[in-house]
Amino acid sequence: MFVESPVDSIEFNGRTVFVKRDDLLSETFSGNKARKFAYFLENEFPGKSVLIGHGSPVANSLYSMSALAKLKGVQLDFYVDHIAEQVMNSSVGNYAESIANGANVIDLSKVDDRQNLSVIEYIEQKVLPNRDDSLFVPEGGRCEYAKHGVQTLAKEVIAWAEMQKLEQLAVFLPSGTGTTAVFLNEYLVLNAPHIKVFTCACVGDAQYLTQQFNQLVADESMHPTIIELGRKYHFGKLYRPFYDMYCKLLATGIEFELLYDPLGWMCVESLFEQEFTQPLLYIHQGGLLGNATMLPRYQRKYSEC
Ligand SMILES: *Cc1c(COP(=O)(O)O)cnc(C)c1O
Repeated sequence: MFVESPVDSIEFNGRTVFVKRDDLLSETFSGNKARKFAYFLENEFPGKSVLIGHGSPVANSLYSMSALAKLKGVQLDFYVDHIAEQVMNSSVGNYAESIANGANVIDLSKVDDRQNLSVIEYIEQKVLPNRDDSLFVPEGGRCEYAKHGVQTLAKEVIAWAEMQKLEQLAVFLPSGTGTTAVFLNEYLVLNAPHIKVFTCACVGDAQYLTQQFNQLVADESMHPTIIELGRKYHFGKLYRPFYDMYCKLLATGIEFELLYDPLGWMCVESLFEQEFTQPLLYIHQGGLLGNATMLPRYQRKYSEC
């Protein structure tokens, strides 16, 4: 479906770091979601005319699912807990672009039959039983289906490492649900054990991320190594060190996003401070569309890079 993504290199803290440009995989999909949704893109689902998803109205998943639905010629019904006023009124970013793609975003704070149900409970109890024509995708593509595209990524990494004649390689990618990192590491442990995956928890803490890993891959020896920093950062909040990292990376010539990558690179920085000598490949998972809303917030707070 997609052509292989290229690998660039940048200088970071006096070291050369390789960057796998999954952000360049597709214009309509952000890198990570292009991998996770590849299965749906590459297969047909006869009789299914509605794609059902849920999650945050500002997430990359919403946008990527709206692009997927559009490409497949099906309706997207995306359930959210609520939508903030400023998100609803913005003409840029993931929410606005998804609406432009024809997504039907259902705000459960506005329906009368919700009865204190969580979003997932609402979908399971009120939506799916009545809809044989629907295909349900768990939040952030956290499901077995995601394995398919992530394995393609793993194969590309293995082939690249072989071409570079690397006897050891560390792969770093920041995690949300951890789906990409755990499936990537599982494949590598089984097929190329000289390549190891490192990640960090951008949503919740390391314990939460481990739980997420466990839901997808029960064998803990297949889990990636989680890097932790001395302090906690909350997902979606603005932090000076995040913005400084974004600006520092921008100066290398590659733009990264502002929700996952700043923490990811701060963890890379901390690895390098611990005599970590292996070559490192950072997976750029896209998500730049979200910068349309995040960057103006940072610029208002801290001025331009
Ligand atoms: C979705 C996303 C992630 C998180 O991926 P998981 O598989 O949920 O861990 C990281 N970075 C970007 C840019 C994303 O869009």
